[in-house]
Amino acid sequence: MKAELAVIGAGPAGLAAALAAAARGVRVVLVDAAPEPGGQLFRQPAAGLGATRPHAPHHRRRTWERLRDGLATAAVDVLTDHHVWCVERAPGGFTVHALLGPGQEEPAEVHARAVLLATGGHETVLPFPGWTLPGVLAAGGVQAMLKGALVVPGRRAVVAGTGPLLLPVATGLAEAGVEVAALVESTGPGRLARHARALAGKVPEGAGYAARLLRHRVPVLARHTVVRAHGEDRLTGVTVAALDPDGRVRPGTERRLACDTLAVGHGLVPDTDLAGALGCRVDGSGVAVDAEQRTDVPGVWAAGETTGVGGADLALAEGHIAGCSAAARLRGTDPAPSAAALTARARQRTSAAALGTAWAPPAHWAEQLNGDTVICRCEEVTAGDVRGALDLGAGDERTVKLLTRAGMGWCQGRMCHTAVAALAGCEPTAAKRPFARPVPLGVLARQHTEKGQS
Ligand SMILES: Cc1cc2nc3c(=O)[nH]c(=O)nc-3n(C[C@H](O)[C@H](O)[C@H](O)COP(=O)(O)OP(=O)(O)OC[C@H]3O[C@@H](n4cnc5c(N)ncnc54)[C@H](O)[C@@H]3O)c2cc1C
Repeated sequence: MKAELAVIGAGPAGLAAALAAAARGVRVVLVDAAPEPGGQLFRQPAAGLGATRPHAPHHRRRTWERLRDGLATAAVDVLTDHHVWCVERAPGGFTVHALLGPGQEEPAEVHARAVLLATGGHETVLPFPGWTLPGVLAAGGVQAMLKGALVVPGRRAVVAGTGPLLLPVATGLAEAGVEVAALVESTGPGRLARHARALAGKVPEGAGYAARLLRHRVPVLARHTVVRAHGEDRLTGVTVAALDPDGRVRPGTERRLACDTLAVGHGLVPDTDLAGALGCRVDGSGVAVDAEQRTDVPGVWAAGETTGVGGADLALAEGHIAGCSAAARLRGTDPAPSAAALTARARQRTSAAALGTAWAPPAHWAEQLNGDTVICRCEEVTAGDVRGALDLGAGDERTVKLLTRAGMGWCQGRMCHTAVAALAGCEPTAAKRPFARPVPLGVLARQHTEKGQS
């Protein structure tokens, strides 16, 4: 397929970008791995479920309807179930390489003059004793079960960790009929109050969640953490404890809560694989962009959580600005994004920075790890193995990986790299992965043969 602009990712950022560019006369292809557009926030129930009220688990319904209806009438080709594993420069633009469907074995290509990356982010879950037990789930995964599969993971849940994502997960579970035994948040109200000015715009949303938690009688344990998950072959309960102001567990405050589900999350990290492989600069953990959302690789734009975690409003604003810019640069006109988008981006970036600081995981979380706590699930590397590597002189993620294989498995470090970096005492670095998805050897071989023949 050929297009002028390929937008990768159909979440809020990609949808806003595709609509803005199409409205300016650009031929857009919107590519996403999911079966329906919407991204994480507007995840739709699987079509086969025949949901009678598909919007029931969603907030921001009007925003979704505006994007969905816009897409239905815009000149945008939507390619769902397309898992993009690589974008490469090609004569006259770029080739987007994807694998089709759930099997991800059949290749597909999109050729475009320009590319806009809106691939979002993924969750971080920090390890603790017992976290590998069945019944312990990533909070975002629980959210995906509720919204996409319309199923509940259990009957009695604890929601724990840190970050705003815990609020929709706890309320979503309660509204789906699950008894939520506690929302265990390691950040305290004092820390949020220190950022009151930057977070003022989030107060109505926060108050809405507080009211829903009260309505469902969900106990909130602020400045607490889960220190252990219990169970033989599946989860039966967790031990929670209070934290002191330095982020250490207060001795003697431990208590046990019975539950069959623990939804746990410690924030989100930008997904930068495609950008990194294209050679775009990654700043901190997100793709670096200029005021028009251009990366430092000509012809490549980025918007939404791939540039830094900041929520759906920021993603929508960045997507609009990026789509306007891409269209203008393709047409040789003036970008002229809406003033509202520029204002929203500035405001949301300020609150995103405050949210990131206020909702940081407790500083001393790693002190809870036993020697046998698994850190890298794919390669079964324990905290003891990592500490052994540190004793041998490893001082960064890469050396720990070379000595222990942590991060070398199926997920390529997406799950464990934050924990490994923390144990090594260094900042996590954005990984350089040549492929964003596993690719069957046959697909690579076929491509090599075709290139050889052309
Ligand atoms: C697991 C999870 C759950 C969340 N739940 C909530 C919530 O309940 N409430 C809330 O306010 N915020 C939630 N957020 C945050 C919210 O999703 C974001 O603020 C917002 O959706 C960001 O928009 P985006 O367009 O940047 O990315 P996303 O919405 O994440 O969209 C990115 C899209 O890119 C696609 N994609 C990524 N890589 C590829 C690839 N290689 N090939 C093809 N397609 C690809 C994905 O399928 C996805 O559709 C959640 C985030 C996560 C990670």
